[in-house]
Amino acid sequence: MKIKRFFGKIYKKLFSVKWTCNCCGKEIFSDGYFCESCEKSLPYNNGNICNHCGRKVNNKQDYCLSCKNTYIAVDTARSVFTYAPPISDLIKKFKFNNKRYLSEILAKYLKDEYDKSGFRADYIVFPPMTDKAKKKRGFNQTELLSKNLSEKTGVPYIDDFIKVKDTERQVDLSRELRLKNLIGAYRIIDKKVVKDKTVLIVDDVLTTGATTEALAKLLKKAGARKVLVLTVASVPSEKAYQ
Ligand SMILES: [Zn+2]
Ligand SMILES: [Zn+2]
Repeated sequence: MKIKRFFGKIYKKLFSVKWTCNCCGKEIFSDGYFCESCEKSLPYNNGNICNHCGRKVNNKQDYCLSCKNTYIAVDTARSVFTYAPPISDLIKKFKFNNKRYLSEILAKYLKDEYDKSGFRADYIVFPPMTDKAKKKRGFNQTELLSKNLSEKTGVPYIDDFIKVKDTERQVDLSRELRLKNLIGAYRIIDKKVVKDKTVLIVDDVLTTGATTEALAKLLKKAGARKVLVLTVASVPSEKAYQ
């Protein structure tokens, strides 16, 4: 009896290995990360985008209303997807359900976008978390994405920022106040390393853009020549600046 159960276990192990869709969990039989229907519904940011912030815009235009006539420290931002299902669900899973392995999949898309956009960076950097926040989540998702993208592009990633205060509850503040708050929340560790360099900030989602803008301002102040931003997804222009 015992032997039967033992072999049963082995049999199960050998023959019930399943590949499942990383979005919906359905069993898949082909190569790839997603089932056919999820793969088809991926919200690629391939339509009209703002030349500057890379967000989806309704009509073909060089700059979205928000980027027009505004000085922004970020030179160019691009994102692989617009922030919509199933990608938005996948990002939430990655961040909040401790699915670290998803960073490898998402970084593959980041690499494709990096090449497609013609980005050439000397360094990759990422928004840091406070020690307390990182301890709570167990990892910094932007650090994992940067590490994986670095392996795929050969561009070194540097941990050159620290976050000195928590700024999680900022929803009630105006955009200007948020930005002011955020700039004070970060510090560059080594300014010399970014001087005269093209630096790429990697983040998961571009929402208001306040975080990347705060980091870009610090990088420019430290003498960075150019600041690029690459995110997995971005909120369309009309929704981002409401
Ligand atoms: Zn699926
Ligand atoms: Zn724009």
